[in-house]
Amino acid sequence: MDNEKIIKLQQMIDESENIVFFGGAGVSTESGIPDFRSADGIYMQKAKYPPEEIISHSFYLAHPEEFFEFYKKYFYYPDAKPNAAHLKIAELEKAGKNITVVTQNIDGLHTDAGSTKVFELHGSVLRNYCTKCGKFFDAEYVAHSEGVPVCPCGGTVKPDVVLYEEPLDGPTIEGAVEAISKADMLIVAGTSLRVYPAAGFIRYFRGSKLVIINKESTGMDDEFSLVIHGKVGEILSQIKA
Ligand code: NAD
Repeated sequence: MDNEKIIKLQQMIDESENIVFFGGAGVSTESGIPDFRSADGIYMQKAKYPPEEIISHSFYLAHPEEFFEFYKKYFYYPDAKPNAAHLKIAELEKAGKNITVVTQNIDGLHTDAGSTKVFELHGSVLRNYCTKCGKFFDAEYVAHSEGVPVCPCGGTVKPDVVLYEEPLDGPTIEGAVEAISKADMLIVAGTSLRVYPAAGFIRYFRGSKLVIINKESTGMDDEFSLVIHGKVGEILSQIKA
């Protein structure tokens, strides 16, 4: 790893008051959760329907059995633990940095690591609600249900996860946009920047310290003032809080 880039990243963090860490699925691959678009990502799995179609709202309504079969297999990882990236972000907050997490991930690992300001743009597998009576269910209930998870009232239990064709949650968008527009440093990590509207959020950044940490080039690398290609956990573990 290019040591000069790590030094530069450290300097930018030290100089910044308000930091937003904007992450995607690549932030959790070092915890053993596959992303979507890498060679071993979820999109490469053989399934009866294309994964992009399965995780859409219309597919969920039309084929709930198949939806939940896929969901339980690829979306819920009860043994996953926060990795060095999640832990370093939480450590920076503990050390006094005003650092907000805006994540496209649905695994809850930033909160697990100890971050307190977290906007989950695509929801969380840890929250599940009956579509009829609104009762809350935990992830275990869904994971251990036979086929489609059902509430005692008879309604379907739906994960609080934003599927394709579904809108993002209003207050979550507002909080994320406010944090990004007030930040003087934005760290984008582990995302292909191909899922909209989430990827468009970085447009709200008005500061000058715009960093991307990703295993591979995103096609938007030109827009960043510091580009680091590598594993986000390995890179952030070299930063001092
Ligand atoms: P993506 O799969 O489109 O892209 C992931 C990117 O991260 C790739 O560019 C890959 O090269 C990079 N990457 C993988 N491992 C990395 C690592 N250790 N360090 C640095 N970079 C790494 O993911 P996306 O852009 O987040 O968009 C896909 C959607 O997938 C999101 O909406 C998200 O909700 C969902 N998703 C979430 C999870 C999760 O919650 N952990 C897992 C899979 C998918």
